[in-house]
Amino acid sequence: MKQVQDYIRTIVDFPHEGIMFRDVTTLFADPRGFRMAIDQMLHPYAGIDIDKVVGLEARGFILGGAIAHQLSVGFVPIRKKGKLPGRTISQDYKLEYGEAIVELHDDAIQPGEKVLVVDDLLATGGTAEAGIKLIQRLGGEIVSCAFIIDLPELGGRKRLEAMGMEVNALCA
Ligand code: IMP
Repeated sequence: MKQVQDYIRTIVDFPHEGIMFRDVTTLFADPRGFRMAIDQMLHPYAGIDIDKVVGLEARGFILGGAIAHQLSVGFVPIRKKGKLPGRTISQDYKLEYGEAIVELHDDAIQPGEKVLVVDDLLATGGTAEAGIKLIQRLGGEIVSCAFIIDLPELGGRKRLEAMGMEVNALCA
């Protein structure tokens, strides 16, 4: 039987030469693949108390929306700078070349709410770390971080675990 990783394709030299881009759109487009990924991402959280799912732009919205629906909890987006219409808090983080900023509506998480962070892929962990900091600044308690793909050689898992985070991923 096909596994989640069998639905993911790799695009060579995207967005730059030398990058092997893991493209999950082929997984999302397949009804069996997509359901399998959502079911497997949810698996560790059976019986665990979660108040909100936070998705990281952009593929974290697709996964996070489906997961929030399944858990019957609210969904909150963390977006790149300038995209959220309400009052926001911001967090900068380092990219391979330069910096980026992510934002969260300042009323999107209430203190003490239990949050599940969702994205498609964990590489260096910089994006997830910035998102975690935003949630923690609003007083949210992060239950866990869920990804489809973890690229362990890029250090993201170690980085998040060093912050005290639980990390779950379906494949490497
Ligand atoms: P990090 O901040 O280095 O961990 O990179 C993770 C972020 O970059 C996530 O939001 C991913 O969606 C995105 N990303 C990095 N590499 C890839 C890839 O190969 N495929 C899909 N997304 C990627």
